[in-house]
Amino acid sequence: MPGTVRDDTPLWLFADQLSPAAYGGEHAHREVLLVEATSALRRRRYHRQKLHVVLSALRHADRDLGDRATLVQAKNYTDALEHYGRPVLVHQPTSHAAERFVERLHRQGLVADVAPTPTFALPRKDFEMWAGTRTRFRMEDFYRDQRRRFDILMDGRGPVGGRWNYDPENREPPPKKQQTLGLPGPYQPDEDDIDARVRRDLDRMNLDTVGVDGPRLFAVTPTEAQHALTHFVEHRLPSFGRYEDAIMGQDWAMSHSLLSVPLNLGVLHPLDAVEAAEAAYNRRHAELPAVEGFIRQILGWREYMWHLYWHFGPDYENNNALNATAPLPDWWKSLDADAVTAECLRDAITGVRDRGWTHHIQRLMVLGNHALQRAYNPQELTEWFATAFVDGFRWVMPTNVIGMSQHADGGMLATKPYASGGAYINKMSNHCGDCAYDPKKRLGDDACPFTAGYWQFVHRNRDMLAKNNRTRRSVSTMDRLKDLEAVLEQEADRQQF
Ligand SMILES: Cc1cc2nc3c(=O)[nH]c(=O)nc-3n(C[C@H](O)[C@H](O)[C@H](O)COP(=O)(O)OP(=O)(O)OC[C@H]3O[C@@H](n4cnc5c(N)ncnc54)[C@H](O)[C@@H]3O)c2cc1C
Ligand code: SF4
Repeated sequence: MPGTVRDDTPLWLFADQLSPAAYGGEHAHREVLLVEATSALRRRRYHRQKLHVVLSALRHADRDLGDRATLVQAKNYTDALEHYGRPVLVHQPTSHAAERFVERLHRQGLVADVAPTPTFALPRKDFEMWAGTRTRFRMEDFYRDQRRRFDILMDGRGPVGGRWNYDPENREPPPKKQQTLGLPGPYQPDEDDIDARVRRDLDRMNLDTVGVDGPRLFAVTPTEAQHALTHFVEHRLPSFGRYEDAIMGQDWAMSHSLLSVPLNLGVLHPLDAVEAAEAAYNRRHAELPAVEGFIRQILGWREYMWHLYWHFGPDYENNNALNATAPLPDWWKSLDADAVTAECLRDAITGVRDRGWTHHIQRLMVLGNHALQRAYNPQELTEWFATAFVDGFRWVMPTNVIGMSQHADGGMLATKPYASGGAYINKMSNHCGDCAYDPKKRLGDDACPFTAGYWQFVHRNRDMLAKNNRTRRSVSTMDRLKDLEAVLEQEADRQQF
């Protein structure tokens, strides 16, 4: 719906578009409208800290933009726009539902025009050109083209160092005889009067939330995001790649950047993060595998997931190729970590309860793996990830949860399901030594729920797995298990994880 928009048309920013790239540049002269819609806060059962970061971000943007900005508190967005009384310009929002909503507002005359989303590196139309008539997508192809296009870690036409991919170096288990990586703590913003007010307002609103309240751990302004990025590059980037796939019970942040919140709010631009990492390599502060590993996450995975969200379309999130119908258990939904015996799962649920955040491998290989094994309904799970995590936004869920984690798209995104037994978790974490279960056992009181659950998963999905070259062997191994019937019976009766 492009058109010409008047110079004095104000700009409406959603809470995930609080980016200088959105309100600066060609829009630097516009007044800015920000909206706090109470219906959006009440619509779902969000993590308390998620609501805090979103409100804090909006109110900080209002303060930082000074006279330019008007923050309207209203029941919903339509009421806010009607109250504001002037048609607005808005950037393309970040979900299918919001896009349909903005189209409706445009027809009603409340939205004057829609500009492209400025919070990702690659414009949507450029991805569609890249996608062309492809029917199979490989992140690696996309990532290499992103490197070329944005000239990141390039040496002429080839990659710096002669290789595009340092994944093989980036899969180390946690260091032995250490409880933590021994890094300085991650950047933590200082809370201010705005945070205090947000906390008071959230208390007063008496919302139905999950998780505990706690100090704000994530950057919500461009200035804080810059500090968080600098701190990460200085202290964590050098060991980022190496331990990217590892889990340590006593080290919740490890080498991760904690930048997903500022990136998803828009207060940090992905190219700024990527360029800061590249500069650290150029000044020999961090080795190539670490820097490449980090850049791959942002210029590769994050952008890829964003664009596939649009490319696969709104029906993608309804996929349930493995017919997984089990409801999420109450202990899971209420983040009752104390009800969990399995150390790896208890630690991951504790992270979600206390911070609304766990790192990628806990999301994929502990939480996602457990849900996949137990056939939790992928749509319910998507909703859970979107609401229980501080960085959960609609666009990021379907490809990560339906696709990567639950294989509910039948393999459109990943060539095989991310299912694994306790042996993998034992290798990549230091949890099993402290656990009441034994990762080597699939039968008995101390049978590891991941090891036994893996065979339950293979059994339930044997036809699909037998057809896939990468998983066929699991089925033949399962067929040789003499105690399979007993394992399946045990897991069908299991009440405790
Ligand atoms: C089941 C599941 C659910 C997830 N839910 C979310 C979510 O709600 N919000 C979210 O931003 N990410 C999500 N991710 C991706 C990833 O786990 C988080 O981005 C990351 O853990 C955030 O922590 P970090 O900023 O320290 O990341 P780092 O480990 O420091 O990585 C750097 C950045 O790379 C980006 N990134 C890496 N992988 C992905 C990916 N697969 N999708 C999108 N961005 C990626 C993120 O922006 C992240 O900040 C999910 C992954 C899985 C498997
Ligand atoms: S033994 Fe099993 S349940 Fe316990 S920590 Fe290891 S993988 Fe997790």
